[in-house]
Amino acid sequence: MGGKGLSLLSGGLDSQLAVRVLERAGAEVEGVCFATPFFASDAARKAAQALGIKLHIIDFTDDEIALVENPPHGFGGAMNPCIDCHAAMIRRAGELMEKLGYDFVATGEVMGQRPMSQNKQSLGIVEKSSGLKGRLVRPLCAKLLEPTIPETEGKINRDMLLDISGRSRSRQMQLAEEFGITEYPSPAGGCKLTEEGFGRKLRDLMEHEGLGDRRLVELLLIGRRFRLPGGSGVLLGRDQAENAILKEASALGTLISPVNCPGPTALVPSLKSEDDLCLARALVCSYSRCDRLEGDVTVRVNGAVAPVPRPYDRAAFKGFQIC
Ligand code: SF4
Repeated sequence: MGGKGLSLLSGGLDSQLAVRVLERAGAEVEGVCFATPFFASDAARKAAQALGIKLHIIDFTDDEIALVENPPHGFGGAMNPCIDCHAAMIRRAGELMEKLGYDFVATGEVMGQRPMSQNKQSLGIVEKSSGLKGRLVRPLCAKLLEPTIPETEGKINRDMLLDISGRSRSRQMQLAEEFGITEYPSPAGGCKLTEEGFGRKLRDLMEHEGLGDRRLVELLLIGRRFRLPGGSGVLLGRDQAENAILKEASALGTLISPVNCPGPTALVPSLKSEDDLCLARALVCSYSRCDRLEGDVTVRVNGAVAPVPRPYDRAAFKGFQIC
């Protein structure tokens, strides 16, 4: 009788292939994906629908933040704690597996595909730290690894599993054709933590305000960010939609917006000094469309309205911008 398991589904090609290969090997498979502000789950939802499988969505934000603050195996190229993140995802999927009484957790990992996180050593670390020893199946490269419990119990036909290794994508492309999989995002994209610019913003927030408030973490996805000399951070909306988001988040800090001309809304989560407040007001004015305005820009700071004397020099703030 076939086994039943949960396969990590990002929506990328390898994760979709893993599902199809397991099904071909006699197993019944459901998908698991993880929700955080750092990566969207849309591709996983779409893939689950195309594959015709049930999808479990696990809120992973607190897990990811804890790993960003303290990654036992360090970061990849940016602020991406991939080895620990992957192990934690598998651990969370394993908890669900136990709860549902299923036999295994699977991933679409391929030996040697990513030099840092998918070499033999890291695959071993991930298995060990996930606590799933013997129940973690990697159908795309299973034949290069020791047989897992569901394989030895005959719940997955090991003969139907694969031995893909290396960075070439040719076998995956062949399999995609064989299984009729046509829609999948690029393998590298998707996770903001792998982007250097986003990593700088995240590190800045971590060092100054901390990552304890999930709403501040979510706001990393929008706006221009500045760190003023006194230590205050400023988040500046880039369009009306971002301005509206910042206004909704006004409870998180000091809100500044122009009154007599169009311009950005700014949120200062923890204002450190009067000097910083003056700079933040001038920053808002420097990004405002005040060319046709006679006189000074008037700004509202948490309800109180006052003019900010000209001139406004946007270039003077470049050195404070985090990008
Ligand atoms: S790319 Fe992002 S989601 Fe994927 S393992 Fe790395 S940190 Fe986690």
